[in-house]
Formats: sequence, C-alpha cells, structure tokens
Amino acid sequence: MTTLLIKNIGEFFTGDLALSQKPVGSLLIEDGRIAALDPPASTTAERVIDAGGAAVMPGLVDGHVHPVFGEWTPTQDTIGWIGNYVHGGTTTMISACELHVPGLDYENLTPDLVTSLAVVTAATTGRVRWSGAKVHAGTVILVPGMSEQHFDRLAAAKSILAKFIFYPLNRGRDEALQYQRWCRARGIRTKIHTGGVSRSGVSQICGYDVLSWLQPDIAAHVSGGPIPMSDADMDAVVDNTAFALEICSSGNYGSTLRLVRRLADTGQLARLTLGTDTPGGTGVIPRGMLRNLLFLCSVCGLTPGEAIAIATGNTAAAHGLDAGVLAVGRPADIVICGPVEGSTGKSAADAIAHGDLPGIAYVLIDGEIVVGGRSRQTPPPNRRLFFSCCDAHAGGLSCS
Ligand SMILES: [Zn+2]
Repeated sequence: MTTLLIKNIGEFFTGDLALSQKPVGSLLIEDGRIAALDPPASTTAERVIDAGGAAVMPGLVDGHVHPVFGEWTPTQDTIGWIGNYVHGGTTTMISACELHVPGLDYENLTPDLVTSLAVVTAATTGRVRWSGAKVHAGTVILVPGMSEQHFDRLAAAKSILAKFIFYPLNRGRDEALQYQRWCRARGIRTKIHTGGVSRSGVSQICGYDVLSWLQPDIAAHVSGGPIPMSDADMDAVVDNTAFALEICSSGNYGSTLRLVRRLADTGQLARLTLGTDTPGGTGVIPRGMLRNLLFLCSVCGLTPGEAIAIATGNTAAAHGLDAGVLAVGRPADIVICGPVEGSTGKSAADAIAHGDLPGIAYVLIDGEIVVGGRSRQTPPPNRRLFFSCCDAHAGGLSCS
C-alpha cells in the first residue's frame, strides 16, 4: 500500500455543491484514493506534503475537450497541450467528439466511419494517461443510419459519451430518440451541440425546440460555443428542462451571465457544468477551467466553493464519473493552491472571489504527484509548501 499525507491545509473545498467548504486540516491518501479526512494526529505516511496553510481542492474536470492524437492537437498545431492543462489544474477531461482529425469530411460521414473513429481514439488517445491526465476519449459523432451493433462497439471501447452535432435533428425524432435509448442502455451519456453553427460550418442549430423533445443528458455550451441560442430559448431551457447545462470558454460572456444568474436565482446550480471547448477556434487554454470558475465568482456572483464544485463534482457527476469530490473512497485527484503575491485577500477563497487566478503548487492524480512544487502555467502561491519523503526531513516533518 502506498500512502501520502497532506498536512496543514488552510482551506478545503469539497467539490460537493451541497457543502462546498469544510474545516479539514489534513487528508490521507492510500493507493490513490482518499482514505481519511483529518486522520488521527499520530498518522504517518510514506510521503508528506505540508500545505503550509494553502488551499486544497479537487482536480478540475474539463467537460468539453476536442482531442485528436494524444498530446498533439493539429487544431492549433500544439504539442503538449494536455500536460499544459494539467499544470492549469485540470485532472480529468471528457472528449466532446474527435471532429478535428485532419481531412475528415463532415458531409460524408458514415455509421462505420464515425464508430471506427471513436473506437480508434478510445484505443489511442484515450488509452494513455498523457501527463497523468484522465482523458475520456472515443465520443462518437452521431450520424443517421447507425444500428444497435454500432453502439455495442462503442460500449466495448468503453465510450462514456455520444454527441449530436452534425445529426439532422429536423428530419425526425424517432432515430435520435432510439440512439439515446441505445446509449443509456449501455451507460453512455448523450451531449448535444447547442446554439448556432460551429467552426465546422455544418453543425446543426439547436435551441429550446430540439432540447425539449430530445432531453439529452447534457446540453453543451448553452451560453454559446461560440454562438448562443436566443435569450428567450435559453430562459426556456432553464425553466422547463432538468438535464445538465454546460458553460464553455468558447461562449458568449453576456449569455453566460444571464444563464448563471437564472440558474442561481431558481436554485438550479446543481445542473451547471463547465468545460473549455478546446482545442478549437478559441485556442489552447491551459488556464481555461480556472478562468471559467473565476468568471462565475467575480462576474456572476457565485461563491468560490460553489464555482469550484461546478468545475469539479458537478461536471464529473453529469458525465457519470466518480472524480471531482474530495471524500473518503474517492480518487485522490487534488490541486493545492493559494493566492499569488500581490493578489486581493489573504486566502485562496478571497482571491478567487475577486476573480484573481490562484497559484498552483501541486497537482495529484490518483494520489500520484504530477505537478510538484509549482505549476509551469500559473504564478506560484505566496506560501511555501514542503514535500517530504522518508530520507528528507527538510521541512521539519516527521514521516515514517
Ligand atoms: Zn465543442
């Protein structure tokens, strides 16, 4: 059994919207999972991180990425993008389909081609923990003419999501609803592109009309990705549906503010999820998930605990994943961060509430340190953190 103890935690964000901050001072990890919150003072571990009063939060869950070939995205000719996102605090990413494969002809997609593309991506990009990140790839682009056997192949490939983006939803509902039943029977969730046409130029327009009868598991980038549905449609979606609603970095800021306020005012923040919708036309944004949650606090008026829970526990749960919440038995996907020198306030919560980027020192995925000491994508936090193992007691720590 491998053990790691995080001590001297100053602020603890649970990732659970129902109780988003708790007075937790230490956390014990065993074999990649959280074994105890505030274990007995006599607890020893093979490795110790002294958080020095810094903040601990769940690793961020980017609910909308577009991977292509592992760490290389031809979308913006960037190599190493996944590692850069890990340094921005993201520990889990969910593909919203792999439509950026060079040369893919969106107007001549066949059931066999889209299924094979998802299966190949799951077996390549989705097979490896790039830079330590949990990348859920193999999200099929749904097209007309698919049979139940195609969904069997997707289930065998361990796909967790299927995407309506090019599917002609104005052609009739029966097949789309059948696809949704086949997905759900196999534990695959459905997501739909909403709003106006995407960068591809051929995605289907989707507003309240389609969402009201399709009832997907998640409506993607409801406030724009990049073009939002009308204000009236967005209000109707908030008021008359119950599925998860996603906000992305690719969206419209005004629509995002309107959406978040309406959800908050009607007690529906549990429906809200976050993603970057990158790599894409919006770019490659290593700090994209952090920027999303800072916007929710500083502009939309949510508390830091609420915004962090939306970026972690909410987004993971909407996609059927057990990440995103720091509780006993959950994966130890953790970010340790604090306010940056010169930032507003003394705590990470103060800084985040003001919309100031926090400085990341450590990122852990399944209890393994994937960012150690400081992030290469954020300024350092203003507190010093110490790491100790059995032969190094430089921080004055006693670890066994
Ligand atoms: Zn997208």
